[in-house]
Amino acid sequence: MIFRSNLFSFRSLLHYRRCYSSSQLHDVYIYNSTNKALEKFEPKYPGTIFWYSCGPTVYDSSHIGHASTYVTFDIIHRILKHVFNYNIVLMMGITDIDDKIIQRSQKEQVHYLEISKKYEQEFIGDMQKLNVQPPTIYARVSDHIPLIINFIQKLIDDKFAYACPSGSVYFDMNRYGEKNEYKHHRMNEQGVSSLETDILNEKRNIRDFALWKGRDESSHELKFKSPWGYGRPGWHIECSVMASRTFGSHLDIHSGGLDLVFPHHANEILQSTAYHEIKTWAKYWLHAGLLNTKSMDEKMSKSLNNTILIRDMLKTYTSTQFRLFCLMHDYRSPRSFESAAIQQALFVDKLFKAFFDTVQACQKGLVDISSLSEAETISKIRNTQDEIVDVLANNFDTPSAMTHLQELVHWINSHMNYDIRDNENSIKNTPTCALYLAVDFIQSWLQIFGIDMSISGHQNQNTSSDRILLENVVEKSVQFRTNIRDISRRRSVTNEDNPKKVILQECDDYRLQMKYLGIDIKDRHQGSTWSFKK
Ligand SMILES: [Zn+2]
Repeated sequence: MIFRSNLFSFRSLLHYRRCYSSSQLHDVYIYNSTNKALEKFEPKYPGTIFWYSCGPTVYDSSHIGHASTYVTFDIIHRILKHVFNYNIVLMMGITDIDDKIIQRSQKEQVHYLEISKKYEQEFIGDMQKLNVQPPTIYARVSDHIPLIINFIQKLIDDKFAYACPSGSVYFDMNRYGEKNEYKHHRMNEQGVSSLETDILNEKRNIRDFALWKGRDESSHELKFKSPWGYGRPGWHIECSVMASRTFGSHLDIHSGGLDLVFPHHANEILQSTAYHEIKTWAKYWLHAGLLNTKSMDEKMSKSLNNTILIRDMLKTYTSTQFRLFCLMHDYRSPRSFESAAIQQALFVDKLFKAFFDTVQACQKGLVDISSLSEAETISKIRNTQDEIVDVLANNFDTPSAMTHLQELVHWINSHMNYDIRDNENSIKNTPTCALYLAVDFIQSWLQIFGIDMSISGHQNQNTSSDRILLENVVEKSVQFRTNIRDISRRRSVTNEDNPKKVILQECDDYRLQMKYLGIDIKDRHQGSTWSFKK
């Protein structure tokens, strides 16, 4: 039997909560990086989220640092969508114009878009392998050059930016300070980025930052024509422009890795609030903790040459194991991809697989679950449901949610009796619906978190008809083998039976089962042949 998960049955479980709650299922609290505090989540339109996520700079293969950030936000996205019932527009910006991309295109003597397209496709493929749901919209810098120029021009017209003779344009921090309060830009407390110090000469203020990097007309570098001369966008301006194009002057969530807090996000806030002439542009800023290598303070980075590519990681671990690793860490804290943490994820993976194995054994009457009461199981599930929803509403506390799920598995396991010698006949008549309710509940939660597990085969990732046929054939073959073993151990053969005759009957039955599955087995003198039925 193949048991497939069904999200909708889980939703009926959620229904009872809806009966006593208002339009939104549950209040959600989110740690907002701008205010450095836990805040009640109140998007502009109740039930709807407009969300912008900084995406990758596509100049090389993605590493597990990227995997960690995007799997983490995928989990949060799924929770907001499936647990708290939000409709979400998620936009991801892809940086396909950048100094590193240009350097690589010059080195390999190919067009810069050839580099960026190649690694963008690779990134999207990696995300698919990690079961990260694609955003509603991808946006690319290369498609937004005219809009970036218009955005910068408005900032110049409003005196928030100034152009220099070199063709570069800078954001004017003094002017911004005259017109705005800084108090809601507390992310901008870390001072001046070292990246900016090389172009201090022409800046009016040490804290001013580049919106447009001027390039000489005769230069062979990538450049675009602008009212201030040739050049290309600064890094931060792209996200303000791409997000504003779709969402206008309001965003509910803006997300990225913790390394983007300063200067990237701080500068996005400054230029966007100046452009839209508002105090708050993105209401909630979410930052994912960085993935470190063995040492907790060594960030994974290309420049340190300590990266592990996603494709290499997936040779050793499954995407489910990596996702469990992410689920079991607080999303804001730094995480270390080292042995103990991975072992913990592998242990939980094994726990769920063993649970589904045991359920399969129950289906076959090999395990006694007569002590699992329906009323008790329903009550336990409802309590676990409340506990999980409550911890997720508290800044997406997935480690605690995983603990509650594991506790439920342990509780059910404690009602499994493998010693069935004395009551073999009675257990076949024991109702198993309480167990399947728990199975549906656990599967549904795993599915919400982006993990597909089924009773047979554990992972549902390939649910093609071929896969289902294979599972059926394996199931029948294993059953056939069990029957033959039983006969040889004389467990199911009475003394009057002729074992040879019983074995031949089993063989005929197996051939018939295969026929129902579309496989023709023909017995010949020298042996048997098989073919798919036409
Ligand atoms: Zn960005």
